[in-house]
Amino acid sequence: MARILITSAIPYINGIKHLGNLVGSQLPADLYARYMRGRGHEVMFICATDEHGTPAELAAAKAGKPVEDYCAEMHEVQKEIAAGFRLSFDHFGRSSSARNRRLTQHFAGALAENGFIEEVVERQFFSVADNRFLPDRYIEGTCPNCGYDKARGDQCENCTKQLDPTDLIDPRSAISGSTELELRETKHLYLRQRALKGEIEAWIDSKTDWPVLTTSIAKKWLHDGEGLQDRGITRDLKWGVPVRKGGEPWPGMEGKVFYVWFDAPIEYIAGTAEWADANGKADADWERWWRTDKGAEDVRYVQFMGKDNVPFHTLSFPATIMGSREPWKLVDYIKSFNYLNYDGGQFSTSQGRGVFMDQALSILPADYWRWWLLSHAPENSDSEFTWENFQGSVNKDLADVLGNLVSRVTKFCRSKFGETVPAGGSPGEREHQLVAELQQRLAAYEACMEAMEVRKAASELRALWVAGNEYLQSAAPWTVVKTDPEQAQAMIRLALNLIRLYAVISRPFIPDAAASMMASLGCEDWSWPADVGRALEVLPAGHGFTTPDVLFRKITDEERAEWQTRFSGVRS
Ligand SMILES: [Zn+2]
Repeated sequence: MARILITSAIPYINGIKHLGNLVGSQLPADLYARYMRGRGHEVMFICATDEHGTPAELAAAKAGKPVEDYCAEMHEVQKEIAAGFRLSFDHFGRSSSARNRRLTQHFAGALAENGFIEEVVERQFFSVADNRFLPDRYIEGTCPNCGYDKARGDQCENCTKQLDPTDLIDPRSAISGSTELELRETKHLYLRQRALKGEIEAWIDSKTDWPVLTTSIAKKWLHDGEGLQDRGITRDLKWGVPVRKGGEPWPGMEGKVFYVWFDAPIEYIAGTAEWADANGKADADWERWWRTDKGAEDVRYVQFMGKDNVPFHTLSFPATIMGSREPWKLVDYIKSFNYLNYDGGQFSTSQGRGVFMDQALSILPADYWRWWLLSHAPENSDSEFTWENFQGSVNKDLADVLGNLVSRVTKFCRSKFGETVPAGGSPGEREHQLVAELQQRLAAYEACMEAMEVRKAASELRALWVAGNEYLQSAAPWTVVKTDPEQAQAMIRLALNLIRLYAVISRPFIPDAAASMMASLGCEDWSWPADVGRALEVLPAGHGFTTPDVLFRKITDEERAEWQTRFSGVRS
C-alpha cells in the first residue's frame, strides 16, 4: 500500500466557478484520489478556498459585507457545490485559516533567516480618495502604445503590451475612478528567486516523467527574457496574512500583508493541518504527509492544476519550500491542463457565458457532467464543450451502453428467474473469452489511471462497458432461454456479476451511479477486480437483488436546444 498526497489548485473565493475551472483541477484530482483509494492506497486529498487579495475585498464591498463574512459565506457555497459534484476531499480548507496564517509567517521568517528575502523600497500609486495603495491592475489609464483608454496598470488588454502603472497616461483608480493619485514610497519584501534558480532548475531537470505542458511552462519562466525574477511577496492591503517574521513583528512592515500568491500554496500544507484539527488528530498525523523528517519520505505528492497555475507551482512555491531549508515535501508530479472552451468561444465569468457549477447541478445529476468533462478533459490541447457533443456522449456512453446493460440484465432476470442470482449452467468458451478480454482491457485502464491519462482512461472504461454489451448481444440469453434455460442462467449470473465489476471500476468517474448499481445488487464488496474471473463469481447463486430504476436518462433535443439558449451569456 502506497501513501499518496493529492492537492487540487485552490479556487478563488469570489463567486461560483464554471465547468472549465472544475475540469482543470478539482475533478481530475478527485478521479485520481478515488481510483487510488479504490486500489487500497492511503490517500490524503486536500483542497481549499483561496480567500485573500484585492478581488475578494472588492467583491465583499460590492456585496455590502465585511470581507471576513463574505469569505465565510462563499466558502460554504463552494463547499456545498463541491459536495454536489461528489468531490471527495479529505478536507476543504480556507487560506484565511489560523493554520495558514501561522505557517505563512513561519515560511517568511525561515526564508529571511536564510537570506532569501530582500527588503525593497519602491514608489507606488496611492489613491487619496480610496485611502489605499493601488495594486497595478487597479490603476487604469490610456495606453501609451495604442491609445486604448481602459488599459490596466499591469497590461493593456487591447494591444497586450506589458505596462508599469507609471507608463499610463492620465492614470486613475479603477476602484473609485479618482484621479487624485500620488506616487508614495512603500517597503516590500521580495523572495530572492534568482538566488534559488540553480536549485530549482536542477530539480525541474530531474523530473523527466513530468508532462511536457508542465515542464515547458516552467522552463519558459526560468529562461525567457531575463530569466527567473525575484518576486514581491507583500502588499499594502488590509485583507491577508499580516506580515510577521515567524512569531516576531517585522519592523517596517506593520500594516502590510503577504501577497495572496505567497500564502495560497502554503494552504495545501495548512489545509492538511486543518484536517487534523477538524478530526481531533495530533500534529504528527498531518506532519507525516508533509515533513520528510516525520514520515513523509515515502509519500508520493501529486498536484493538479490548470496551465495558468503552473509557474507558481513549479517555481515560486518550490522556492518557498527550498529556501526554508526545512524538510518539507516537494511535489513529485504535476498534472496540468489546458483550457476547456465553451460552444465556439470561451467561458466567461464576467459575461455569464457557459455553464457554472451550480447551474450544471440544477439541470442534471453530477455523474452526467463528471463523465463528459473527464472523457473530454483538455489534456494535450484545449477542448470544447458543445451541447451536441454533451448530449451525444451522455446518451450513447451512459444511457445506451452502461445504463442499458444494467437495465436489460436485471429486468430479464426478474422476468425469467426472479430477483435472485440464478444457479444453473456453467461458463463456456464465450464466457472465457469475455473474461480474457476484460482482463486485458482492465490492465490498459489501470495503466491510464496510474499515469493520469484521463481521456484515455475514460475511453478504456467505455471499451470495458462495450465488451460486456457485445458479449450479451452475441450470447443472447433471451433467445437461449427458450432452448437451454440452464445456459441462459449461467450467462445472466455472469452478467449480474459484471454489473458489480462495472460499479467498482466506474466509481472514480461516476460515483453515484456506481453506488446505485451496488445498492441494487445488495452488495457492499468494493474490492478491486484484480482477477476478473474470480471477480465475476463474487455474487453467488441465490443472492437477492432489486431491479434498479433507470440509471441514466437520455437528454432530449428540446432540452439541448433550451440549455444552449439559456447558457449563451449574461447570467441572471
Ligand atoms: Zn495598448
